Amino acid sequence: MNNRSRSRKRTPWDNKTELTATQEYVQMHYITRYEDRHPKLKDDGESGESDMINSYVPTKCPYCNSDRFVQKGYDAIGIQCYRCECGKYFKPTTGTIFESRKIPVSEWIEYCLNIFRYVSLNADSWNNRNAISTSKYWQEKLFMTLENTQNDVVLEGTVWLDETYYSILMRDRSRDGNGNLLRGLSRNQICIGVATDKKHTVCIMEGYGKPSQKRSYEAFKDHIKSGSTLIHDKENTHRKLVEKLELNSTCYASKDMKGLTDSENPLDPVNRIHCLLKMFLNAHSGFCRDDLQNYLNLYAFVINPPSDHVEKVEKIINLVFENPKSLKYRAQFA
Ligand SMILES: [Zn+2]
Repeated sequence: MNNRSRSRKRTPWDNKTELTATQEYVQMHYITRYEDRHPKLKDDGESGESDMINSYVPTKCPYCNSDRFVQKGYDAIGIQCYRCECGKYFKPTTGTIFESRKIPVSEWIEYCLNIFRYVSLNADSWNNRNAISTSKYWQEKLFMTLENTQNDVVLEGTVWLDETYYSILMRDRSRDGNGNLLRGLSRNQICIGVATDKKHTVCIMEGYGKPSQKRSYEAFKDHIKSGSTLIHDKENTHRKLVEKLELNSTCYASKDMKGLTDSENPLDPVNRIHCLLKMFLNAHSGFCRDDLQNYLNLYAFVINPPSDHVEKVEKIINLVFENPKSLKYRAQFA
């Protein structure tokens, strides 16, 4: 039991061992009545949500970044409050996606587990069960949380790199002077760079149409350890990347790979990821392409370690508190 639970039910006789019958009766009804009037507190105590949230002790004030603040009691559901020297009050949830939640964090856990399963199995199990607006809202929160999760991924050893393309929405596609859609790797195709060392994978949107040396370098320069071996099929596109990172380049010409079975193809490790990624994107085919990098972040989060979905949820909750980003429902869908 935490401090808050003790204090909220405090009676003058808490430390007394011998109570009179009247004291016992009054104390019991005082506590019962208190708990009846604060059902959330009781439920919350059972779910452990407040203990979990309170375990994240803020390091700075979310309003002014000062570290000079003091504990200032608990809110109605047992969340620790703090008061800063700037005069503002805050809680561990202030400024996070949990700040304005109407439902317990456990619902969010359930949502995440469903999304992870959905992404990994690519089965349409989640969206059908939920109002679209709620799904979109939670998806937006999940996207915000995962925004920078690929930043620290650095591949090493043998790295397979290849680009794949995804069409922009029909209504946004450019046409030539005769009104025909542009063909080939035009600006109607979004280039997605995928690199993997079979332990970790990075998926990055490189822009529209064929990637340049510069774009491919910018996309992967922080994600491949220098000195690694690069397996790829685009000598030109990856030249700058190979040179600057001093990679050992093993480049296969596409004509040499014609007729090979999947398992014989030297780019098989990255081709497999392309294939699953396309299935995942196709399951959401109507999405706004501005969100593409967010979908890639989600996909990468699901296929990268830890493989256990429960550990992924733990990682997400840590990210929420360590890297606060708030999204209020009204602000998003007003
Ligand atoms: Zn402050």
